[in-house]
Amino acid sequence: MRALFFEEHGETNRLLFGDRPLPEAGPGEVRVRLRTAALNHLDLFVLGGMPGVPIELPHIGGADGAGVVETVGAGVDGVEPGMEVVFDPGLSCGRCEFCRRGEQSLCERFGVLGEHNDGTFAEAVVVAADSLAPRPGHLSWEESAAFGLTYLTAWRMLITRGGLRPGESVLIHGIGGGVSLACLQLAKLMGARVLVTSRSQKKLDRAAELGADDVLPADDQVAREVRTRTGRRGADIVVDSVGEATWMQSIKAAAKGGRILTCGATSGPNPAEEIRLIFWNQLSIIGSTMGSREDWRQLVSAMNVHKLRPVVDTVLQLAEGRTAYERMERAEQFGKIVLSIDG
Ligand SMILES: [Zn+2]
Repeated sequence: MRALFFEEHGETNRLLFGDRPLPEAGPGEVRVRLRTAALNHLDLFVLGGMPGVPIELPHIGGADGAGVVETVGAGVDGVEPGMEVVFDPGLSCGRCEFCRRGEQSLCERFGVLGEHNDGTFAEAVVVAADSLAPRPGHLSWEESAAFGLTYLTAWRMLITRGGLRPGESVLIHGIGGGVSLACLQLAKLMGARVLVTSRSQKKLDRAAELGADDVLPADDQVAREVRTRTGRRGADIVVDSVGEATWMQSIKAAAKGGRILTCGATSGPNPAEEIRLIFWNQLSIIGSTMGSREDWRQLVSAMNVHKLRPVVDTVLQLAEGRTAYERMERAEQFGKIVLSIDG
């Protein structure tokens, strides 16, 4: 099958487009013939190589995709070739205490499709049958590939872990990336007031079109501005997946009793901290990673019921994968960068 892959870690010039063996579905697995795939920031980290996360080379990246079930492995019930599907990109063992509790993203051997095994930047991928969901009928093939990892992450972080309630205010740093846009859409769906930041006026304008109530330039005045706009109260929830560049603003922008949610640290993992504000304002710092199968089921159901549509930035061909990675690297995108794998 044709695939976008790399034989050595490094920059985007390591990416190759060529033939890789067609994977076989083992017990409990299915092979999906992919129509579309989508990039995540994770794909850049995997290409660059992550300390402590050894992967087998050559490697095919990509956590997100949509396609048609092609073959079904032993012991799989209720899945037939020809079904149009999307899938939860979380990989879990199914046996540890956390999996038995239904908390798959806490699995002792948790991994992500395209990070710990071969992913979706190819004509076919093998995934666990219990990760599948029917492709939402209101979405195009491009949109179908564009919500898995980011919306699942946003759903668990905001709703399952963050306990977002209608009427609360939510500050989201760095609008434009997949998780931040998913958080914007889900927070609006939940009836929250949403404040977003970006260094790009263009991204702020787009966020306002998508329903952001307040758009703020991303600078060292964010916390002050949030307080001004919330009657000095601050935000009930702060979504901070930026890390070092924004953390202090997050602590200062949170309302008393507020929750700061993190699912990443794209600007670095070791920010300055202000412990006095954490205890005095009784803040909760809540970490979240991907989602459980139940989070995935709830998310797909909400996508269908509310006809949510992920924002697609660009659609490129699989053969143009290097261009797609480079666009992600320059952080130019607003929404998801999708790869088309047709024909
Ligand atoms: Zn497990």
